[in-house]
Amino acid sequence: MTGRGDVCAWQITFRPLAMGVGAAGCRRPCWSGRWCWCDSCARRAFWPPNSWPGSRQRAVRGMPSPRIKDVQVIATAPAGLRLVVVKILTDQDGLYGYGCGTFTQRAELVVAAVERYLKPFLIGKPADRIEDIWQACYNSSYWRNGPVLNNAISGVDMALWDIKGRQAGMPVYQLLGGKCREAADCYAHASGPDIPQVIENARRLMELGFRHIRVQVGIPGMAAYGAGRGEARIEALHSGPVFEPAVYMRRTLRLLEECRKQLGEEVELLHDVHERISPTQALQFAKDCERFRLFFLEDPLSPEDIGWFRLLRQQCSTPIAMGELFNSPHEWTPLIAERLIDYIRVHVSQAGGLTPCRKMAAHAEIYGVKTAWHGPGDVSPIGHACNIALDLACWNFGIQEYSAFNERVREVFQGCPEMKNGYLYANESPGWGIEVDERAAARYPFGSFESGERRRLNGGWGEVRRRDGTIIKQ
Ligand SMILES: [Mg+2]
Repeated sequence: MTGRGDVCAWQITFRPLAMGVGAAGCRRPCWSGRWCWCDSCARRAFWPPNSWPGSRQRAVRGMPSPRIKDVQVIATAPAGLRLVVVKILTDQDGLYGYGCGTFTQRAELVVAAVERYLKPFLIGKPADRIEDIWQACYNSSYWRNGPVLNNAISGVDMALWDIKGRQAGMPVYQLLGGKCREAADCYAHASGPDIPQVIENARRLMELGFRHIRVQVGIPGMAAYGAGRGEARIEALHSGPVFEPAVYMRRTLRLLEECRKQLGEEVELLHDVHERISPTQALQFAKDCERFRLFFLEDPLSPEDIGWFRLLRQQCSTPIAMGELFNSPHEWTPLIAERLIDYIRVHVSQAGGLTPCRKMAAHAEIYGVKTAWHGPGDVSPIGHACNIALDLACWNFGIQEYSAFNERVREVFQGCPEMKNGYLYANESPGWGIEVDERAAARYPFGSFESGERRRLNGGWGEVRRRDGTIIKQ
């Protein structure tokens, strides 16, 4: 309560209005909702509680803490990839938020984790205590750091950041400290069944303004990652998809050589190994890539082989990006602290949402490691908006992976980030700036646009084997 001798908030914020109504202005009340004295006008005034315009009231004394009233899940697949979005509603009219919890290969498990476990745990909790809620959810299962639970927590976490942004009337990047840059420089994917088609697709992307291109080429008869499959089948001791690491490495090195010859020195080239080769092959491959001066080589080693990174670092200078398969922020810790990688490749929802990832980015900055948040099609536009918030607010931003949003995705998620000349721009509206059209989302249920094995496996991935039948990592 303001007493005699204090300057009442009305004097600071509403003087122009008061002056407009003359002496009546002195009857305006103070923010405390009680009778008060103001030094300047020295008259008593009363303002009924909650009648002050919301943003002013929040700015000077905070607003009543919103409580979580409901937790809902929006399951949709407008582009054929199963997306999971968590919607948190509060007890304040019109105040809600969205979060991405997409684990497309096991999407229904995330839905169950949210609906069966987190929802009853969260109802009634204060929505403005993001860190506290994150820690509570994280610890409430006792066993933690799995992809299902981390994605479920991420859906909640991002929704709470959205709510806080909407409360503040600011985009989330402002809550993180504001912009370090105007937009996020992105890389796009150029792929194709053969080298000429990859190069043609890369040229097309460069004409659109992209300065960074990830290149992946198919292998005839094999299930190469990130590129179309060749038409011919190779002989194998099984009838499923086949992949042979040595063939892949030879073909990719030819691709990179042609890219440098035909696309020039200026374009930044990236490539994703997708952990499909052995550690010793990875050492050789990364060394062979040195002469092409990659922007980065992604996932040359699997999470199970992180002990090899030290050897990789000692033997070659190819920049390394790693981590989209990690679950816990603690998995990146040794790689960052020993400067064994150059970019953290984090699937933000997989790691538990914005709350843990902003800490990881700060940790990486100390060691000169940059960010390259995972941005494929199996991240919802809410997740992409979260990536961009981090891209803009973190000084040690490296690059952002870009996937285009098709018309159906834009129909469901209104306010998707915009791409211009290779840069991705944040939506400047409060929170993530995205509204979900739930009726449109319902038109594309899980299974939409799926066929074959993907449909039979409920959105899951199948298997890839070597010629002799040995399973390989995907
Ligand atoms: Mg990858």
